Amino acid sequence: MDPTQAYLPSQVFAPPGTGRAPRAFIAPQRYIQGAGVLAHIGRYLSLLGARRAAILISAGGQRRHAAVLVDSLRAAGIESVVCRFGGECSLPEIEKHAGALRAQNVGCVLAVGGGKCVDAGKAIAFRLGVPVVVAPTLASNDAPCSALSVLYTPAGVSIGLEFQPCSPALVVVDTAIVAAAPERYLVSGMGDAMATWYEASVCLHNEKAVTTIGARPTIASFAIGEICAQTLFEQGAAAAAAVADHVVNDSLETVVEANTLLSGLGFESGGLAAAHGYAQSFTAIPVTKAEYLHGEMVAMGTLAQLVLESRPEEARRVAEFFARVGLPVHLEQLAIEAGDRSALNTIADAALAFPFTGNMPMRIDAAVLRQALLAADELGAAVSREAGDASYRRLHAA
Ligand SMILES: [Zn+2]
Repeated sequence: MDPTQAYLPSQVFAPPGTGRAPRAFIAPQRYIQGAGVLAHIGRYLSLLGARRAAILISAGGQRRHAAVLVDSLRAAGIESVVCRFGGECSLPEIEKHAGALRAQNVGCVLAVGGGKCVDAGKAIAFRLGVPVVVAPTLASNDAPCSALSVLYTPAGVSIGLEFQPCSPALVVVDTAIVAAAPERYLVSGMGDAMATWYEASVCLHNEKAVTTIGARPTIASFAIGEICAQTLFEQGAAAAAAVADHVVNDSLETVVEANTLLSGLGFESGGLAAAHGYAQSFTAIPVTKAEYLHGEMVAMGTLAQLVLESRPEEARRVAEFFARVGLPVHLEQLAIEAGDRSALNTIADAALAFPFTGNMPMRIDAAVLRQALLAADELGAAVSREAGDASYRRLHAA
């Protein structure tokens, strides 16, 4: 895509020189969640009036879900074009599908899969000028509800964000599919979701902070973040147990909503801060990037942010929850040596360069970030010794 065509939300919501940024809240038009809902996708898509839909799906997803999707669409009088997602949310992958679909006259793009497939679907729909419908098959991340994509090179190295002017038209989460996935994905989603409240809180209370769209946060997004964290503290362990048994119950439904809807709305309109700065910085360590999920890195970043905020008691409460469900609470659990100065310097520099780390209210430099991370590592290691690491070891058994 021509970079001059890129959509920059801050140019709309808060261009330079226009004074204090306004509050803004953005969200998908409809969110639908339940066991078996994917079999009714045709009915939901009929809301959009499209007669022809592109389905972006991986080869494995196609084997598991394509027949159900195509049948449901056909029953609603909607034709479908299946596009095989190659696995990376890269510009070549996005342009390839957008190019092939231009002649197909599709009325919407339906992305069915994990975070990268969902993000690629949003970017393809943007290029075609049609609505995107998102059907996540994992609750491991908060990509489904947002109007942005994380872009990678074809080799999988992160190269930044692409924003879209429209949020997804529909988000359809089939909890029977989420419950069939390994427990580690749901747990990772809890790590990503738990950061939401703490990051939104920093942004709401620091009047210089701005959200991912360049606006000021709303109280609504802060409140959504708060109920998200409360839900995880109360029901996270029960939901992890449900997904370990591949059972859909109320705890699982509630936590899937927290990981997908609450976390998504909360981060996009509530703002990000140091927790995500640390999480992105851990991807600079090759073994960590290769072996750990985004939400697992956000978990460690959340502990470090709470230390940075001088909130040791809250950091301990969060670490105890993370240890209970099996999220990393110290650096060794992300394959990082606390004594490796070169790795720690790399992490601190990368965390400092992340644009939303600057939403923290205090003076931040690389040394401050490194110090907070080491203190969080010590606190997490102590919690891990007391609480044990059985859940972590179970989720990470080869
Ligand atoms: Zn995240």
